[in-house]
Formats: sequence, C-alpha cells, structure tokens
Amino acid sequence: MYSSKNAGKDSFTFFESSMRDTLNRQSSIEAELKGSLERNEFHVVYQPKYEICSNTIIGFEALIRWNNTKFTDSNPDEFIPILEQMGLINDVGMFVLDNALSMIKKWQDITQRPLQMAVNISPIQFNDPSLFQQIQQILAKYNLTGHSLEIEITEGILLDATKELKSTLNDMRKASIAIALDDFGTGYSSLSYIKDYPINSIKIDRSFIEEMNKNKTHTALVNAMVSLAHSLDFHVTAEGIECDAQLAYLKELKCDIAQGYFLSRPITADKVTELL
Ligand code: C2E
Ligand code: MG
Ligand code: MG
Repeated sequence: MYSSKNAGKDSFTFFESSMRDTLNRQSSIEAELKGSLERNEFHVVYQPKYEICSNTIIGFEALIRWNNTKFTDSNPDEFIPILEQMGLINDVGMFVLDNALSMIKKWQDITQRPLQMAVNISPIQFNDPSLFQQIQQILAKYNLTGHSLEIEITEGILLDATKELKSTLNDMRKASIAIALDDFGTGYSSLSYIKDYPINSIKIDRSFIEEMNKNKTHTALVNAMVSLAHSLDFHVTAEGIECDAQLAYLKELKCDIAQGYFLSRPITADKVTELL
C-alpha cells in the first residue's frame, strides 16, 4: 500500500518479500533510535571544502554519524528519514549544529581565518517556528556571527514553500547566514523560482560529477549549471570529487568550491584539529 501511495495516484504494486524486510528493518531501527540522543550515540564528522583556485580549506560540512551496536552499518540516508518521521530531527539537528559551531569557533581561533561551517537542515526543521531563534542562540553561545554558518537545504523544500519558510530564509540571510541548495540538479531545479529565494550557492549533485568525464551530456550539464549559477551571482560547489581529472576539469570551468573523497573524506573533529 505504501509503495503504491508513494508512486502517486491510480497505481498498483506487487508485493515482494524484500518489502517486508525493509519494513522490519525500519521498525527495528526506530526502536533503537528511541533515546539514542540521550545515550550519546551520535557524533559529527567534518568534510573539508576547498576553494578551487587557491587550493585552500575554506570550511567544512558537518555530517552526522550514529554509533549503534546493532546497526553499525546504518548511514544518514537511512536513519535521517526515520528520525524525521519520529519527530526527533529537531533535537538531533540542534545537537549537530551545537557541535559543529563549537568546532568552527575553535578552528577559527587556531587558524585566525574566517572558516565557515555548513550544516544540513531537514525540511521538517523549518516547521518549527523557533528554528531561526535557536540558531541565533547557538551562534551567540560561541560568540559567532552568521558569516560562520551556511545551511544546506534541498530543492524539494522550495517546491511547496510556505510564507513562513520564505520569511525564515530571509531572516537567516539578514543575519548573514549563507544558504546553499544541496544535491542540485536531482530535483525540480528551476532557476526561475530559485531566484525568488535568498540563495547564495548551489551544490552540484555528485551524480553529475561522477559521470562528467565519461558522459558528454553530463559534462554539458555541469558546464551549463556553473555558468547559469555564476550569471545569477551564486557560488558553485561540486560535491563527490573522486579523482584528479574531475578536479582539473572543474577548475577549468571556474567552479568555486570542491568537496569529495579525492580531497578528503569526512573526518573526526580531532583529525581536523591535527590537519589545521
Ligand atoms: P549530503 O548533504 O549531500 O552530503 C554528502 C554525502 O556524500 C555525505 O554522505 C558524504 O559522506 C558523501 N560524500 C562526500 N564526498 C564523497 C565522494 O567523493 N564520493 C562519495 N561516494 N560520497 C561522498 P553521508 O554523510 O552518508 O550523508 C548522506 C546524506 O545524509 C547527506 O547528503 C545529507 O542529506 C544527510 N545528512 C547527513 N548529516 C546530516 C545532518 O546532520 N542533518 C540532516 N538533516 N541531514 C544530514
Ligand atoms: Mg549537504
Ligand atoms: Mg549533497
């Protein structure tokens, strides 16, 4: 039933035993996620972001990890939607933000450079009218201004955007918090509606980068995304760079920021401190 509902109106689905396995796994994960924040099962790792022209680290993306003894293999793509359904994403999101901002303050102090922290914000978090206020409180706690923070949202959120969402995004921009559109190109990207929101940058989805040097259509699409974004005054980040050739090509295209395993995998806070 859920599979048909997800496929849209007037559709039907044949039952497969793998569906029962997925549902069973989801409900077991749900049981394990209850109380996981209080049991300190989450930690945050950081993936460096490089300015391509200078080859220097300009910031990091905070990515959550779950250390659960039963589900050692569960990744955020699997457990974040379950946290969202369970109504726990607001608290977990604030945990990530608090950790990430405390670390960026420390790394700014060490390097004396204006490093920026990018944090993924779930669309569900925008339903909380106090989201902006909570972000401001954490920024103030670490004596930071909005310049130190970039929030990453996905395009889907802009599709059925409410007045409240638009006003929260505007409040964030007024407070100098940067706003990036994550996984760009995979959803419903229409640069015309994007222009109605206070977006600063786009992150080209890694599926395009992966195919770039093999598939001419993808190369043309990346090329077009970079030049369109630049003509709208957005910065462009490429995610998922896994080899030298991809980075070299993105440099030629004048893409601004690079992120990917070729440059660095997400690493623990201690490792970042050593690296700096
Ligand atoms: P995302 O925000 O698009 O993050 C990028 C994902 O790509 C991360 O996966 C990262 O580890 C992975 N990645 C980075 N470079 C490469 C590469 O070169 N090759 C490949 N194959 N992968 C690369 P991760 O950490 O598993 O996170 C998956 C998704 O889960 C994120 O996608 C984001 O949507 C969500 N997520 C992660 N942490 C949080 C969080 O704290 N809050 C929320 N709301 N969502 C989060
Ligand atoms: Mg992201
Ligand atoms: Mg992404």
